[in-house]
Amino acid sequence: MPRLTPKLLLCALFCATLPELTAGSLPEPAALQKAVDTAHATFKNEPGGANASYIPCLAKVPSKLFGVVIVTVDGKVYQAGDVDYAFAIESVSKPFTAALVMNESGPQAILKQIGVEPTGMPFNSVMAVELEPARSVNPFVNAGAMASVSLVKAKNPQEKWAKILAHYSKFAGEPLAMSDEVYQSEASCNQHNRAIAELLFSYHRLYADPLETCDIYTRQCSVLVTAKQLAVMGATLANGGVNPITQERCLDAASVPKLLAVMMMAGFYDESGAWAWKSGLPAKTGVGGGIVSIVPGKMAIVGFSPPLDAAGNSVRGASAIHQIVAELNLNLFNPR
Ligand code: GLU
Repeated sequence: MPRLTPKLLLCALFCATLPELTAGSLPEPAALQKAVDTAHATFKNEPGGANASYIPCLAKVPSKLFGVVIVTVDGKVYQAGDVDYAFAIESVSKPFTAALVMNESGPQAILKQIGVEPTGMPFNSVMAVELEPARSVNPFVNAGAMASVSLVKAKNPQEKWAKILAHYSKFAGEPLAMSDEVYQSEASCNQHNRAIAELLFSYHRLYADPLETCDIYTRQCSVLVTAKQLAVMGATLANGGVNPITQERCLDAASVPKLLAVMMMAGFYDESGAWAWKSGLPAKTGVGGGIVSIVPGKMAIVGFSPPLDAAGNSVRGASAIHQIVAELNLNLFNPR
């Protein structure tokens, strides 16, 4: 047994306080449930926006659906509305594939081989690829997301896809599956994404076969999640990379702040600035109507509802999250 020197004692004390430092202090359970209920009641009849229609099967999802969930870093769930409806994860998948790349190749792979700059342009912009020196731009737009897929290590496309799906499932704490209907629908009209993949490849910023990569990217967008599962995935990021329900580590702790920093600047496409201005939180949005927002050390907040604004972000989902953030004072830039 080592002798208890003052230095060792200090170190033991520091380590003992570490979990508390990462967990942060949470609002009372009643306040969390009230915030979720109020946001749901306030915005459930908000009329704006329209379902994504450029992917045919997303247009058919009932527009009335609306779910709001908070999952805290201690694994508690606060929910209201349609939180068990399984919808297409779409672009909310992007941080989780980037996380896999970070685990396999280190966070520097994202910085060096993809990029971390926001574009201020739409999620599928070809102009951004042409204008940005990094080409693939960042892992939260289609170009960078396909670059992430291309960097996942695997012997063949089947193994790569299986790895990505297993990784998402680990984040969710339960097995997730792809919707063949969504996949077929997207694959029938993803010419634009295929063009981006080929363009990136021509610039040596895609690191595997372009069409194969675009196909796996289309599959990852077609994974179904419920608002509750998505909130657990987000809470895993809020919890320093450890799933708060299963206690499994899904992302290296050192990579979490880097992923969230890029999410803050690029997670809302060309509305990322306005989102950060209003909420002060990183968030990722998808054209399936899901938004997950991360409050580091505390919780994830998910708003799900299919009607989108012009930039592709769920109208009710965004309103609900903004209201919860204001009510619980969760903006990261507010002194507390
Ligand atoms: N699969 C969609 C696409 O690539 C995802 C877009 C999104 O959710 O923003 O166009």
